[in-house]
Amino acid sequence: MKFGTKTIHAGVEPDPSTGAIMTPIFQTSTYVQRSPGDHQGYEYSRTHNPTRTALQNNLAALENGKYGLCFSSGLGAIDAIIKLLNPGDEVISTNDLYGGSYRIFTKVFQRYGIKFHFVSMEDPASIEASINENTKLIWAETPTNPMMNIVDISKIAAVAKKHGVLLAVDNTFATPFLQNPLDLGADIVMHSVTKYLAGHSDVVMGAIIVNDDDLAERLAFIQNACGATPGPQDCFLVLRGIKTLHIRMERHCQNGKTIAAFLRTHPMVDKVYWPGFEDHPNHQVAKTQMRDFGGMISFTIKGNRIEDANKVLENLHYFALAESLGGVESLCGHPATMTHASIPKEEREKVGLVDSLIRLSVGIEDADDLKEDLKQALAKIG
Ligand SMILES: *Cc1c(COP(=O)(O)O)cnc(C)c1O
Repeated sequence: MKFGTKTIHAGVEPDPSTGAIMTPIFQTSTYVQRSPGDHQGYEYSRTHNPTRTALQNNLAALENGKYGLCFSSGLGAIDAIIKLLNPGDEVISTNDLYGGSYRIFTKVFQRYGIKFHFVSMEDPASIEASINENTKLIWAETPTNPMMNIVDISKIAAVAKKHGVLLAVDNTFATPFLQNPLDLGADIVMHSVTKYLAGHSDVVMGAIIVNDDDLAERLAFIQNACGATPGPQDCFLVLRGIKTLHIRMERHCQNGKTIAAFLRTHPMVDKVYWPGFEDHPNHQVAKTQMRDFGGMISFTIKGNRIEDANKVLENLHYFALAESLGGVESLCGHPATMTHASIPKEEREKVGLVDSLIRLSVGIEDADDLKEDLKQALAKIG
């Protein structure tokens, strides 16, 4: 099956009892057994639920993986991955990453004796320099949030393999439409399903996809033992959202390109971060490991004043000022005070996350309207 067929057909089959083409929402907590232990594969919905099974299989197919596991949020999925580790273990993570990932690493798991090193992953040598005998996991995110850096998954996978360390990739920004980390050598793919996969800003969910049988078993144990599983209604909504993932992503990429080019020529705009630009420092890597460049863009305003950023954000209409990304509607955000507020200012500014930085999640509206919207909002500071 090609990608655009998998989104619609993988993991789902007409319901055997009625022929319903859409996977039913199995809104049940438990399943009746004929005699103790004699059941039909389902015992309790934290462990297994048929709507969730369909979604997990669909997600596994999209990432070219064997196993999919869904969680009640992206952070629930990250939580499960870190719980593969033991006190004393060490993790090497990108230094430019989702604020919530940074928070759970430093404020939760550090207290349990797991050590995190934050390095710039554009140079795989800096990863190798941080590896020691306690290193168990490398955590990569690409494109990074919100600076849109690209890290070379194949190169990092080679370093991970050489040292017998697991590589997990947060593939939320790229989606399986643009990039498949398992094919590039990663061991674990993680998604905030909340974003592009669900796609309609109506669900919070996370997922993990793996190929390795043992890893899948350990993660399924944690999924059931710790219990951060999504309900069947949410699984249904995501299955429905994914059916148009390929169509939505095509438009996100097209609109992203138009808006990035527009911002770049605007006199009030300073820097524009988008991996599709030929002079983006990692453009060549992006071109090889991604199928297109996506609809996430960050930019700064000349003079770097927070008041100017606020004025633009207050005056945008189609770009709604809100956390999150990846929905059909365009969103804008201010990373320094919103998504990345939990990262100390010095840490933020080291990676270019300055006060005037605005992040856009370009939706699938008409690109002309989106351009006009940005033009009028930027005019307010001119
Ligand atoms: C949103 C997000 C997460 C966290 O996912 P939730 O569903 O909000 O828990 C993790 N990584 C990235 C890149 C994200 O954008």
